[in-house]
Amino acid sequence: MRCVRCGSEAFERFRGKIYCRECLIIKYDGAVESSVRRYRMIKNGERVLAAVSGGKDSIAMLSALKSLSKKLNFELSALFIDLGIGEYSRKSGDTARTLCREYGIDLHIVKIADHGFTMSDVSGKICSVCGNVKRYLMNRFAREKGFDSIATGHCGEDILSNFFKNLYSGNIQWSEKQKPRLEGYDRMVARIRPLYEMSERENMLYVLAKDLPFVEDECPHAPSTTWKELVYEIERKVPGFRVSVLRNLARKKKIDKEEYRYCRICGEITTSDVCQFCRNVAKYSRDQ
Ligand SMILES: [Zn+2]
Ligand SMILES: [Zn+2]
Repeated sequence: MRCVRCGSEAFERFRGKIYCRECLIIKYDGAVESSVRRYRMIKNGERVLAAVSGGKDSIAMLSALKSLSKKLNFELSALFIDLGIGEYSRKSGDTARTLCREYGIDLHIVKIADHGFTMSDVSGKICSVCGNVKRYLMNRFAREKGFDSIATGHCGEDILSNFFKNLYSGNIQWSEKQKPRLEGYDRMVARIRPLYEMSERENMLYVLAKDLPFVEDECPHAPSTTWKELVYEIERKVPGFRVSVLRNLARKKKIDKEEYRYCRICGEITTSDVCQFCRNVAKYSRDQ
């Protein structure tokens, strides 16, 4: 088989057509660019901080943003949050370092250990503690260093499977936040999701086509994939389901601003007296 675009040796199928490596890279970059433009995700001259975990999705995002940064005129830096999950965190950090060095991107590293605990100290709902810690640390870091937006590697399936999970637990308001770009307010920095319309498979193909380093191991605490499998199942029966739901979520107008106040301990934004991060610190930190 030959690439439909240039006739070179075929690499893989992407959005229904067969491409060679080079053309698949061009098509993927083009798809990310059109969704960044469609949703006006990045503003002219913005300082973007890309959160990189070392997995295929965030590596694909960093690489695609690097290719777009000149064309769309934004500044790109990266952030790695060291969660202290043994070998997994060590490998992930090395991967982020390798790619950033190759691309000449400034890589910032924030360690959760500086707050007196690591993920190994956390008991119970480790993934929700981890999610809280990552959101908190990236927001605080980005704001303190003057970044305009934080880019995360969430792709279509992440957003849709979270949608089902939250629907299941009755957290309806949640869908308000599933936008390709969430504007910042007060102490919250804007969030962008450049891979909003990309799928995990597409991210994997891109990383393989470009021969990028990435951590193959899942986080040892990774949650079950039931909801994601459900998303694939629906997509099989209703082709186009994923993109259609994502575009509807993106269009949905924000209804009302969530009530918020400032954490009594650290001053970050929270809905209660003491923020979840400070409660995690109080519970798990060995320093007190
Ligand atoms: Zn080609
Ligand atoms: Zn706090």
